Amino acid sequence: MISDEAYSQLEEAVGPDNVSREPGVLDGYAWQPTNNDHPVERWVKRPVAVVLPSCTEEVQEVVRACNRHGLKFKAFSTGWGVWCGPTYDNVVQVDLRRMNRILEIDEKNMYAVVEPYAIAAQIQAETMKLGLNLHIHGSGPNCSPLASATSGWGVGHDSVYMSYSPRNVMGAEWVLPDGEVLRVGSPGSGLDWFCGDGPGPSLRGIMRGSAGALGGIGIFTACCLKLYKWTGPPVVKTRGTLLDAESEIPENMGFFMCALPDRARFLEAMLRIGESEIGYNAMRTATAAYLNVIAPHLFGKLTKATSLRKVLGQTLEYVMLFVLAGDSEGEVGFQSAALQAIVADHGGLALDMSVIRPFVSMALMGFVRATLPALVFRIGGSFNTALCRNDAIETQENWREECMEIKKGWIARQGIIDDLADNPYYVPYEDNMWAHCEVVYQFDPRKDEHRATLEPIFMDFTIAALEQCMEPMFSSDPRVRGIIGPLAGWFNTWQKKVSERLDPGRAADSTLYCGEAEFDISRIEPSKVKQLEELVRKHKGSEEDPV
Ligand SMILES: Cc1cc2nc3c(=O)[nH]c(=O)nc-3n(C[C@H](O)[C@H](O)[C@H](O)COP(=O)(O)OP(=O)(O)OC[C@H]3O[C@@H](n4cnc5c(N)ncnc54)[C@H](O)[C@@H]3O)c2cc1C
Repeated sequence: MISDEAYSQLEEAVGPDNVSREPGVLDGYAWQPTNNDHPVERWVKRPVAVVLPSCTEEVQEVVRACNRHGLKFKAFSTGWGVWCGPTYDNVVQVDLRRMNRILEIDEKNMYAVVEPYAIAAQIQAETMKLGLNLHIHGSGPNCSPLASATSGWGVGHDSVYMSYSPRNVMGAEWVLPDGEVLRVGSPGSGLDWFCGDGPGPSLRGIMRGSAGALGGIGIFTACCLKLYKWTGPPVVKTRGTLLDAESEIPENMGFFMCALPDRARFLEAMLRIGESEIGYNAMRTATAAYLNVIAPHLFGKLTKATSLRKVLGQTLEYVMLFVLAGDSEGEVGFQSAALQAIVADHGGLALDMSVIRPFVSMALMGFVRATLPALVFRIGGSFNTALCRNDAIETQENWREECMEIKKGWIARQGIIDDLADNPYYVPYEDNMWAHCEVVYQFDPRKDEHRATLEPIFMDFTIAALEQCMEPMFSSDPRVRGIIGPLAGWFNTWQKKVSERLDPGRAADSTLYCGEAEFDISRIEPSKVKQLEELVRKHKGSEEDPV
């Protein structure tokens, strides 16, 4: 419970209409089923109050009030996922939806300065009018580019051209856990927003690494995002939504489905395509996954037929979709010819999808706007994903294969939904030398047997990642952090130190930043626990905790 004194100070900070401790309102924030792999709970801890600040100064006042009253704070932008909820019993949820402005778009220097709740769709619509575009992380246009750039992950299907969210930060405004404001990058020197590093030693690495602090080291109230070229029209007319969407197909763009015969030629072709700097969007998933999200019930029926399982599961295993963009028809013509030549040189086929207009008029802008991922919920109601670190493209291929084997076991035990096991979200970065592969698994949270699978399957993926000397990306998960910290430069020890220095009042809800927790081994076979301990011993070596 929050004291009346603390509550009235929150009212002073944001105004009485923008704070609540109504149980019904608080429960609205505690219901967080997305990516929630708790074997029982779909709820997270209930906040003691929710505040809706409208500006940086109000955020500072909220954080100061929390420090004064021994409360914690947990901010979110659009709040889509379990990682947005409180992990303690005395948390004030800071919902940033009133901070939804695009503060500046600098067309000449190609950047945009935005607030937390300026969602990707809004920013994209405004930048496209100027022939510019932004990186949208794969969760979709309804999400916050600021949250992705400053606080959590950041892969998207435009990463082949626009890379990974943290690489696009060109300055950020950060309310530290003691309420002070820090401007990272050139704005920190009172200059314009054009560089994410400095003044002096760069704090960008403290702000975040590849996973992000997930709200554990303060609240970001503004961020400058690098923008990229958009060669399409200022406004792309669209009727309908998602699978029923019909968009005009911009000129100077192409859409190809590239199928390669096997692993070796797929990897080689990807490297060649990377060298030729082709691709505005690029994504790979399993052919069956399209049917899985487009017609889940039909998919359920078709996959009961062995022959169809084979066709859907094994043919077209190495397929990558490419969206091409150029300044002229000639440039797109060159890219198309180069792509087709490279794929043909490696025994594959690059199908120009523009001949299938209905599909392209739905899918091309669906890719550019990143609208399609949310369909992953359709078949069972929920999903989770097996991630490992972004790394060299071969390692991602190893990871995909390993996760497929793990999933086959759990599908056979009916612990997760049968999606034919191969269900990657595979995205190359920049020159295709490095990539991101996460393997999706879908489940029905209403089924006990599915929920009971969530902890042991997570353990299986953690073991697999260590066996491949890959840190599980969910190093943001407290269960994993204690295990891999010693294997990865004791990163968690350092993160704890950063948290202690930046947050002497322990006001930030930092569980997802530096907290550690145990696996619920009552749900895991003892042999797996033993296997994990063995792996940690094997990899740890002699390096002692630096503190
Ligand atoms: C269907 C689906 C697909 C997804 N695909 C991808 C993907 O391809 N790539 C990817 O990167 N992620 C992906 N995700 C994860 C996604 O990034 C998160 O779900 C995220 O929560 C989406 O919302 P958001 O970006 O608006 O951030 P939020 O939900 O608002 O927050 C994300 C995290 O950042 C913290 N945070 C947010 N704003 C601030 C702030 N201003 N200051 C400090 N901390 C803050 C929050 O506490 C939370 O921990 C996917 C999720 C779903 C559900």
